[in-house]
Amino acid sequence: MRLANVAGRATLVVDGGGIDVAEASHECFGPDLASAYAHWAAFRTFADGLDARPTFEIDPSLLCPPSPSPTQVFAVGLNYRAHAAETGAELPSFPATFTKFPSALTGPFAEVRLGVPTVDWEVELVVVIGTRAEQVDASRAWEHIAGLTIGQDLSDRVLQRAAGAHFSLGKSRPGFGPMGPHLVTIDELEDPMDLALGCSVNGEVVQQSSTADLVFSVPELIATLSGVLPLLPGDVIFTGTPSGVGTARTPPRYLASGDVLESWIEGIGTMRNQML
Ligand code: ZN
Repeated sequence: MRLANVAGRATLVVDGGGIDVAEASHECFGPDLASAYAHWAAFRTFADGLDARPTFEIDPSLLCPPSPSPTQVFAVGLNYRAHAAETGAELPSFPATFTKFPSALTGPFAEVRLGVPTVDWEVELVVVIGTRAEQVDASRAWEHIAGLTIGQDLSDRVLQRAAGAHFSLGKSRPGFGPMGPHLVTIDELEDPMDLALGCSVNGEVVQQSSTADLVFSVPELIATLSGVLPLLPGDVIFTGTPSGVGTARTPPRYLASGDVLESWIEGIGTMRNQML
């Protein structure tokens, strides 16, 4: 199943268009996305039983984040070996967890106002929680995941480093969390543990890797985080970025007004964000 947020309305994505969830369920679910995550098992049963005929054409410019107002947003630093190496940091023995404040989230085709000249790209696999996870073993982690999507952990490198290891503000300027284009459930993916991902700036590929190279895999992240605090329906986890960030270049390269940042993950899709 593919689920999209079309201008705030939960929408099932099918061949040729979309199905508005609130209309199709007679207001049982929707119109917002949170209502789907809040009753995830029942929502899946409803969605799986639907006739997959689209009722309208989806305008990509109206797509918003698949989980627009999560209670918690987690992000994991240094979670690919080659990225840790390019930053000169040691590989952490525990997930290096920070937050992106939820107001930073934006749509998969949204324009992003940079505001400062030191903004860097970070393509990431993003997890959205379906059912509450508390003290969950890695072997059962997937059962608590609604699905996967793409994220950009846009980072103001100067602000990120202004307060030592406290990254969160530098990752949370408005629009610094593009997400989408759709939430894709695990059954749609051939191997959710090995997804090619990458991003390009104005067509030049700058990051390219596979989620098979994650230091802490998705199930390990769920087990570790849910061992500390409950993960709630709709919560979002940015799982870390592979090597190829601009700040590791000599000289460093940052995003400029007019740049087009394209981000993709195998089996999920592509986002395209123009920088202003
Ligand atoms: Zn990141």
